[in-house]
Amino acid sequence: MKQHDIVIVGDGVIGLTLAHALAQREMDVALIAKNITSAVTNASPQYDIRVSAITLSSERIFKSIGVWDKIVERRVSPFRDMRVWDATGPGQIHFDSAWVGQPHFGNIIENSVMLAALQENLSRYPTLTCYTDLALTELILPADGAILKTNNDTIFTKILVGADGANSWVREQAGFALEQQSYDQIAIVATIQTELAHQETALQRFMPTGPLAFLPLNHAHDSSIVWSCSPDMAAQIMAYDDEQFCQHLAEAIEFKLGKITHCSPRQSFPLVMRHAKHYVMPHVALVGDAAHTIHPLAGQGMNMGLLDAAELVDVIDKMYQLKRPLGYLPLLRQYERERRTANLLMIRMMDGFKRLFSNTQPILTSARNQGMNITNKLPWLKTMLMQHAMGNQLELPSLAQES
Ligand SMILES: Cc1cc2nc3c(=O)[nH]c(=O)nc-3n(C[C@H](O)[C@H](O)[C@H](O)COP(=O)(O)OP(=O)(O)OC[C@H]3O[C@@H](n4cnc5c(N)ncnc54)[C@H](O)[C@@H]3O)c2cc1C
Repeated sequence: MKQHDIVIVGDGVIGLTLAHALAQREMDVALIAKNITSAVTNASPQYDIRVSAITLSSERIFKSIGVWDKIVERRVSPFRDMRVWDATGPGQIHFDSAWVGQPHFGNIIENSVMLAALQENLSRYPTLTCYTDLALTELILPADGAILKTNNDTIFTKILVGADGANSWVREQAGFALEQQSYDQIAIVATIQTELAHQETALQRFMPTGPLAFLPLNHAHDSSIVWSCSPDMAAQIMAYDDEQFCQHLAEAIEFKLGKITHCSPRQSFPLVMRHAKHYVMPHVALVGDAAHTIHPLAGQGMNMGLLDAAELVDVIDKMYQLKRPLGYLPLLRQYERERRTANLLMIRMMDGFKRLFSNTQPILTSARNQGMNITNKLPWLKTMLMQHAMGNQLELPSLAQES
C-alpha cells in the first residue's frame, strides 16, 4: 500500500493550485490527475472558449505560489471598467477600477492558460507525487485516515481532498449531503470579434430571460461571451447559423460594440447550483466545484474555489504548527466555517440577483431600475461593491493577502 500525508483528487485549477501550495511547504502530497501532460504548452493562437474573470485576490494566490508570471507569459486580459444595465429600463451602474485606486479590476484568463501554467514545473517538487493513470474504485474511511482503492494500487492518506469538480467522486463516495437546484438556465459561451474596440470594459446586460456578459480579451476587438437563458431559448440560439447568431447577439447587447463580425463555435452548459452541506469530515475535505457550483453571472466560481484552496492551506499549516494530527477535525471545521459561510453568502446573492432580474412585474422592474441608478450615484456603496468584486474581503487567507 502506498502512503501520503495528503492526497488531492482532481487536477483542475483548484486541485493544481492546492498541490503547488502544499508541495512548496515540502509536505508529502500526492495528486491524482486525469489531464496532466509532461509537455509544456503555450497559449494557442486561438482563444480557449472557456475563460474566467479572475479577481485580484485570486491573482495574489497565483503570485504566492509562483505561477502568475507563467500565466502572464501566456496571455491575460485585464479589465478596468464594468458596465451593467437592465434591459427593461434606464437602470445602469458603471464601475471604474481607478475609483478604488487600482489599475484594473481583474483579468479575463483562459482556463487552459491557467491549467498549462499550473502544470508546468510540477515535477520540480521533490515531495509531490503525480499519479496520472489511476482509476479510483473505492473509498474506505477508517478512523485514522482515508484509503483509496484504485485499478492497480491502494493509497492511504491522512487528508483526502476532493478537488474533482461538480460531479465529485470523493463527495459522493464519502457521503457528503448536497443541496442542489437547477437555475433553469443554460449558459452559452463563445469567442467573438466586434466592430468596435472593447476598451478593456466588461459589459453585462440583464434581461428577463437571463444575463448576457461580454468579457474583453487581450486583442481590442475580441471578447468572450456568456449568454444565460432558458433551455428553450438556448436550443434556438445554438441552432442559429453563425450569421444569425452574430446578428442576434449584437441586438442582445444593444450594439454597444457595433456589429459582431465573427464567432467561434458555441458551447452550452446547464447551470446548476450545488452546495455540499458540509465541506469536511474526519480526514476528508472538499474544495472548488466539488463543494459548490454557482451561476456564472458574477464570475465567482473559480475565485471561490481558489480561496477554498488558500484557506485549506492555512488550516493544514496550523495542524503542523500546533502539532495536531493531520486531518484533525476541529481545524478542518475551521476551514469549513470560513469558506462555507462566505460561499453560502455568494450563492444566496447570485440567487437573489437572478430572481430579481428575471422578474417582469412593473412595480419591481421600476424599483430595480431606480435602485441601480441610486447605487450608481452612491460612491461609498459602489466602492464596497467594487472591493467585493475584486475579492478584497476583510479576512483573506494568507496566500491571498497583499505581500
Ligand atoms: C459558463 C461558465 C462561466 C464561468 N465563468 C467564471 C468566471 O468568469 N469566473 C469564475 O471565477 N468562475 C467561472 N466559472 C466557474 C469555474 O469554471 C469553475 O468554478 C472552476 O472551473 C472549478 O474548478 P475546479 O478545479 O474546482 O473543477 P474542475 O474545473 O471541474 O476540475 C476538476 C478536475 O478534476 C478531474 N477529475 C475528476 N474526477 C477525477 C478523478 N476521479 N481522478 C482524477 N481527476 C479527476 C477533472 O478531469 C477535472 O480536471 C464559470 C463556469 C461556467 C460554467
